[in-house]
Amino acid sequence: MTRILVTGGAGFIGSHYVRTLLGPDGDPGVTVTVLDLLTYAGNPANLDAVRGSDRFAFVRGDICDAPLVDDLVAAHDQIVHFAAESHVDRSILDGAGFVRTNVVGTHTLLDAAVRHGPKVFVHISTDEVYGSIDSGSWPESQAPAPSSPYSAAKASSDLLALAHHRTHGLDVRVTRCSNNYGPHQFPEKVIPLFITRLLDGGRVPLYGDGGHVRDWLHVDDHVQGIELVRTGGRAGEIYHIGGGTELTNRELTGLLLEACGADWSRVDAVEDRPGHDRRYSVDCRKITEGLGYRPRKDFTRGLAETVAWYREHRSWWEPLIRRTPSLASRRPRAGSRPAGPPGPASPVRRAG
Ligand code: NAD
Repeated sequence: MTRILVTGGAGFIGSHYVRTLLGPDGDPGVTVTVLDLLTYAGNPANLDAVRGSDRFAFVRGDICDAPLVDDLVAAHDQIVHFAAESHVDRSILDGAGFVRTNVVGTHTLLDAAVRHGPKVFVHISTDEVYGSIDSGSWPESQAPAPSSPYSAAKASSDLLALAHHRTHGLDVRVTRCSNNYGPHQFPEKVIPLFITRLLDGGRVPLYGDGGHVRDWLHVDDHVQGIELVRTGGRAGEIYHIGGGTELTNRELTGLLLEACGADWSRVDAVEDRPGHDRRYSVDCRKITEGLGYRPRKDFTRGLAETVAWYREHRSWWEPLIRRTPSLASRRPRAGSRPAGPPGPASPVRRAG
């Protein structure tokens, strides 16, 4: 058995990874221990499906807690590191927790991994570390130039991880993915925020002119990519994982309105986010050609399934909204105005 320590395994992507690994199509040759602090974003219910497995264990704890991390790392063969503060808007309001968890926490894990000998350490990162790109796609060799405190803290953790490979020979593999969507995502990120508000009859905020472009990656495909890197990736390498569907936020909003049976009268144009990157795009040839990665989830189907999941799982998200004051508001924000006509139709296009 390969003993895997999964940090942040009660969050959106980490829990999807754990449910997949321990599910019917997962890897019967692994055991999983989740280390998660259960911050506002961590949800024990995300792990209900695997709680009964004799290959699963859960430890509530902080990745900055060096003695705890040391004990856990010593008892495992591999680490898949998801734990992070992950929401850009929160990092703009207060970045301190992002530096603590994303930088200090990652260093605490790396330090323990070096002490306890050769282990595979998969570090989950983001396309946001590169900053904005007007056209084309970043290669893995591009130097980071992050714009937000969130992406700066992630870039710092990536550099620490790669430095532990160069300096200590640690088998570190870094993945940088695009925007994830799917079930169990905390309803502060754009897709679940819009779905839950629209299903509740509320209004949704569209930043600036709505022209910001993101590549959308279904969480199933992200997990596929992470597993390929964990099992077949090379030490010291960075791998991009993308979904292949680029949309402006305005196009995405149009699709979500349609899926939720709402129209543009429910959209408020709000002041743009400071430092808001215009477009992200990562070149995924390395993982597709080298490891056989193929995004399998068609975006239209994936989005419809995601909307259906939120429709059917009110008991999952309603308590989260009740206990998070910033999410409970249904009123237009100060300074907002109706978003105006929808503009051209919203075709889903495949990125090159
Ligand atoms: P999430 O916010 O849903 O989950 C984060 C998890 O980490 C939560 O369960 C939380 O309790 C836990 N955590 C936070 N601080 C901790 C600490 N100090 N110690 C232990 N656990 C702690 O995040 P997510 O969307 O699942 O993202 C997972 C990873 O993927 C992050 O590293 C994020 O930067 C990266 N990523 C996410 C996206 C995306 O679209 N969601 C895109 C690119 C990269």
